Amino acid sequence: MTRIEKIQAQLNEQELDAVILFSESNVRYAGQFAFTDGAVAVARDRALLLTDSRYIEAAQAEARDVEVRLVDSRHPLSAQLRDFLSGCNRVAAEEQRLPYADWKRLEEKLETALLPGDALLAGLRAVKDPEEIAALTAAQRIAEQALAEVLPFIRPGVRERDIAAELTYRMLRLGGEGNSFDPITITGPNTSKPHGVPGEAVVQPGDFVTMDFGTLVNGYHSDMTRTVAVGHATEEMRRVYDTVLRAQLAGIERMRAGTTGAEVHKAAEDIIQAAGYGGCFGHGFGHSVGLEIHENPSASPRNTKPLPAGAVVTAEPGIYLPGAFGVRIEDMIHVTEQGPVNLTAAPKDLLIL
Ligand code: ZN
Ligand code: ZN
Repeated sequence: MTRIEKIQAQLNEQELDAVILFSESNVRYAGQFAFTDGAVAVARDRALLLTDSRYIEAAQAEARDVEVRLVDSRHPLSAQLRDFLSGCNRVAAEEQRLPYADWKRLEEKLETALLPGDALLAGLRAVKDPEEIAALTAAQRIAEQALAEVLPFIRPGVRERDIAAELTYRMLRLGGEGNSFDPITITGPNTSKPHGVPGEAVVQPGDFVTMDFGTLVNGYHSDMTRTVAVGHATEEMRRVYDTVLRAQLAGIERMRAGTTGAEVHKAAEDIIQAAGYGGCFGHGFGHSVGLEIHENPSASPRNTKPLPAGAVVTAEPGIYLPGAFGVRIEDMIHVTEQGPVNLTAAPKDLLIL
């Protein structure tokens, strides 16, 4: 089944006649072509990609399973959409992504009330096809290679921002399309801030260094975290590291189709609590990744629905001790009918540089 056919099957199931997509990730998912201005409209028996002169040549060459039409001053987007949607009564749009003013203007131009359509795409995007798994894995391999190249560079005196710059540079050179997000590369006491921002702080002997980073291939985001020690590690640092790793492995073991996100989270949280670090793990166990860095479903207490086979969800528990240090370890897991498949190949035994 093509992506368009999958969307059409969902239209049928949800008793909709068409859906109009504007957001970058959804238009990319549907048309399998990256552009930032335009729309993809899918009706039950046809699909249309609309974009302007900046993207039209590439769209005609790359977009799949959609008719491609040019938007210009004589053929504005709204008029072309109205034409395409003639005969469609129940038309959906992206209620969480389209600004309210644009939503109202579109309703006026199309002379129809729009229905919520976000769930339709979210459900499809939660289940990755083999092409998507291949892109995520390729992005992850680049990130791992970059880390392997940067590890010898991490030593006392190196600044946090230098580590971020090295990872970014190497991922680009290795074929990544950019950073999945601004790398989090923090050292010493800063590692207790889960989303600390790399600055001028320098690595000291005996520090933990946490690196959370990723890159993109074909628009798909990788996401990994490794925490390494520099010079030596205290008993407590080893205990915390070991607890986080055991919590991560316990969570991964539960990442099977049919297990709820909350159950996965709890498996990890139980281990952290039993080790005496209850309250030091404030965020969710994991989030889905794909065309966006944070997607649904999540492996968090809020998600009481079963994870579907085909989801790719991160496994990233952490323990954060304010003023002292923090540890997080993050892999990307492909949830399958047969069980969890780890898309991350980088080792995660405590590394002392
Ligand atoms: Zn991450
Ligand atoms: Zn993450």
